[in-house]
Amino acid sequence: MSDTDTRDPTSLRTPIVAVLGHVDHGKTSLLDKIRGSAVIEGEAGAITQHIGATAVPLDIVSSIAGDLVDPEDFDLPGLLFIDTPGHHSFTTLRSRGGALADIAILVVDVNDGFQPQTLEALDILRRSETPFIVAANKIDTVPGWNENEDSPINATYESQTDRVQGRLDEQLYEIIGNLSDEGFSADLYWRVQNFQRNVGVVPVSAMTGEGVPDLLAVMMGLSQRYMKEEMEIDVTGPGVGTVLEVKEEKGFGKTVDIVLYDGTIRADDQLVVGGQNDPIVTDVRALLQPRPLAEIRTESRFEKVDEVSAAAGIKVAAPELDDAMAGAPVRVVRDRNLEDVVHEVQAELADIAVDTEEQGVVVKADTLGSLEAMADALEDAEVPIVRAEVGDIAPRDISVASTADDPKQQVILGFNVDVLSEAETRAETDDVGIFTDEVIYQLVEEYDEYVEEIEQAQQDTILENITRPARFRILPDHTFRQNDPAVVGVEVDAGTLQNNTNVVKFDGAKPERVGQIKGIQEQGEDVDEARNGDRVSVAIDGPTVGRGIEESDRLWAEIPEKHAKILEQELADEIPGDELEALNMYLDKQRNRDPFWGK
Ligand code: GDP
Repeated sequence: MSDTDTRDPTSLRTPIVAVLGHVDHGKTSLLDKIRGSAVIEGEAGAITQHIGATAVPLDIVSSIAGDLVDPEDFDLPGLLFIDTPGHHSFTTLRSRGGALADIAILVVDVNDGFQPQTLEALDILRRSETPFIVAANKIDTVPGWNENEDSPINATYESQTDRVQGRLDEQLYEIIGNLSDEGFSADLYWRVQNFQRNVGVVPVSAMTGEGVPDLLAVMMGLSQRYMKEEMEIDVTGPGVGTVLEVKEEKGFGKTVDIVLYDGTIRADDQLVVGGQNDPIVTDVRALLQPRPLAEIRTESRFEKVDEVSAAAGIKVAAPELDDAMAGAPVRVVRDRNLEDVVHEVQAELADIAVDTEEQGVVVKADTLGSLEAMADALEDAEVPIVRAEVGDIAPRDISVASTADDPKQQVILGFNVDVLSEAETRAETDDVGIFTDEVIYQLVEEYDEYVEEIEQAQQDTILENITRPARFRILPDHTFRQNDPAVVGVEVDAGTLQNNTNVVKFDGAKPERVGQIKGIQEQGEDVDEARNGDRVSVAIDGPTVGRGIEESDRLWAEIPEKHAKILEQELADEIPGDELEALNMYLDKQRNRDPFWGK
């Protein structure tokens, strides 16, 4: 066919659109609404259902958008919506080191405003430099809203009362303010002149279809204006795409659902697909598209097609696909040199590969894209990674994690993956922490908290084994026993006086050990320590009152030099203020004599 292809080789492909946003903000409903409207507007068969994506051709965009889209103004063929919303599929779908989606819709519920996954989606859009618009969804829930099904926003807004308009304005400005807090200059879409510089906010209802014409018009306009060049492809060239999902399919074995973003794939093509280990070289057995609804009762849900051109979603049945990975590149070989194509696929995989260190945490994720997003987030949080792989958490991951020197790194962070039961048991015996989540930054936060807990526990144990600073005074007329041991009443001026510590007195500059605390009693009860301000009686083994110590003497807990150093350098934030004060006074006294004491 390549010799007889008479098509214009350069042609404009459909921009690929992804929908992101917080859970329950209406991503699925919005996609359903757009698909539904497209089906209603289109003649039977005019909207093509792809695998994993829905193509809405320009004429249907135009009939939904009415006056807002004049087909004469456009030469892009329409919009291709990725059916699986959410930033997970967005990060999976990559192309040549960037995001596969050309443009994104960030859905924000006007009542609920910015939420964790909204922020995460913004972060991903920022990193991938993907242009996006914000669909401020659920405007129909503003109390008193007057519904105008499928109406452009301007008309329906005009038909609302002042109060309803005011309420909606408030909610929209809140969203614009939130965007600006995140560093995106934004405005209502009709005020935006340059969509490359400003984010347009489109008020919509996925329920009533209000604002959907505007949404489609803005996306069409934005793509036409700023992306036309990127949409130029060689339709007759060998296809290039990304694996969306690897799936077992009855009658076909392992298949890959791919999104093709360049060229054409044919039923007799040879392919190179990114795999867990080496690139997979295989031959297409069948190209499959969903069978139209009317024919669904036939033996298979799919029908075979001879060729598909970008942009498109298609299922490919081929041998050897067991190791194929979601997010991996796919390239048609056709008349090119096989080795070159294998190298290209290898290079793309290496590009996605995460930099690892000698020591660090183990990271698992379900796709290459999400693995990379995890790695980015961990790099920001300054968490080193020792191993990063696609797949569920398995026993060998536990083995790797358990060898970390630092207990804080004996950890596996799993994004969107399962923990195999054997791994779970091993983790318990090997004392490896497993954290899993479906929101990346929550996962990082959970890990941060864990690290903090460990650090706190480590400091607590250090504190337990260290002599605490204390300054205290023997009270006048409080000698209960002269010696063996001397028992006197004292008041702690600062710090924590512990049992069994040695006691020193500074006579002039020189510290002089006078004895050791051999018991503390507070109101007749034995206690282990006395805090700042406490009056207690202490037994001091060693001195005799009148010889060695006197009433009204100022005494100190003797702090070994090593302890003083740890206290000053590592624990200053951990000990109470009065104790730090006692430490500093003690250090001053010591350093008067020896400026390097405890340093
Ligand atoms: P997703 O998790 O972001 O895909 O959210 P869904 O599309 O599943 O929507 C979550 C809930 O919000 C569902 O109960 C929807 O019916 C509802 N919903 C979505 N969009 C709208 C809207 O524009 N108006 C109203 N009233 N409800 C909506």
